[in-house]
Amino acid sequence: MHIVTFERRRDSAPDDPRDSARRLGSMGDAALGLEPLDPHRPGARRLGAVIPAGPDAGAVVDLNRALAVKLAYEDVGAPEAEADSLLPTDLLRFLRRLPDSLEFARSALEFVVESIESYDAPDVRRAGLVEPRRRVRLYAPVPRPGKILAVAGNYPAHASQRGSEEPSVEPILFLKAPSAVIGPEDEIVIPAASSYVDCEGELAVVIGRAARRVPIEDALECVAGYCAASDVSARDFQEPRAQHFIGRSCDTFAPLGPSLVTADEIPDPQDLAIRTVVSGAPQQSGRTKEMRFPIARLIAFASSLMTLEPGDVLLTGTLSGVGSAQRAGRRLRDGDVVEVEIERVGRLCNYVREEPADSGR
Ligand code: MG
Repeated sequence: MHIVTFERRRDSAPDDPRDSARRLGSMGDAALGLEPLDPHRPGARRLGAVIPAGPDAGAVVDLNRALAVKLAYEDVGAPEAEADSLLPTDLLRFLRRLPDSLEFARSALEFVVESIESYDAPDVRRAGLVEPRRRVRLYAPVPRPGKILAVAGNYPAHASQRGSEEPSVEPILFLKAPSAVIGPEDEIVIPAASSYVDCEGELAVVIGRAARRVPIEDALECVAGYCAASDVSARDFQEPRAQHFIGRSCDTFAPLGPSLVTADEIPDPQDLAIRTVVSGAPQQSGRTKEMRFPIARLIAFASSLMTLEPGDVLLTGTLSGVGSAQRAGRRLRDGDVVEVEIERVGRLCNYVREEPADSGR
């Protein structure tokens, strides 16, 4: 399942306010004992699933609301409260309730897809359970991870390109600030204080189960799913000034998305094509099997020292060809478009904007 964090666009409100009432009325919400849906309540981020196929492919299903409607049709008492307890509307709480929450999410998605295909089923489109892609704003699937662990030099070609000497015997892990996360519709902002920002396309692993001292052979069971990531860095703060943490952690330096693809859809995360394109020019291309330390090893190593918690994100390293290591170093510039595309996982696309020099405080 492709899980997203979304908000209905305000500009998608029907012109006639009575339309909204009619949509809901057509479902008979009151008869079902449901509070009318207020789809445009500001700041109402919701958990959704992307419809995978058919005429509504790409549309987003409001999972919690869909479950409430399903339960109402099954004559379950207090369906909304029940849906809230079974299927939270934010990803961190959703992950903490795995695997049950995922089962309820599946049943809610199935209910909607089957209803679309059936003539005598509830009109799920008119009820606002199915939102076309253009009518939702997507956020990072994990809007605020507990921590972001990233690994340096995890692809041999990249490590040698960066001038590393002997390959390390264990993964070199570092942190990025969770406040750096942005989603697929946000811009990467080059801080006025930096003159050298580049990006690395990476496979991101989202932890679904608390992991402490997990053996390699069990490590992938702790993974909830995967998304694409850009590991953005201000290079002029890293090597020359030894500001490794802040150089990796500027606001907007951790784009994630577009969705969390659940682990069951990725039978082998170590054999995925991955490529990065900046403003149409290919920058990096390869396969995740080239990782020096595979995902299971990274999780086993990290969890030997610290607890990995649901919602933690692990960036698994980057391929050769990253900007700062190329002969013609490719710095990001105002107006660039960064695309990270990973087989089965999706394509994350972010515009780049320079912070004006006079905007500092
Ligand atoms: Mg990286």
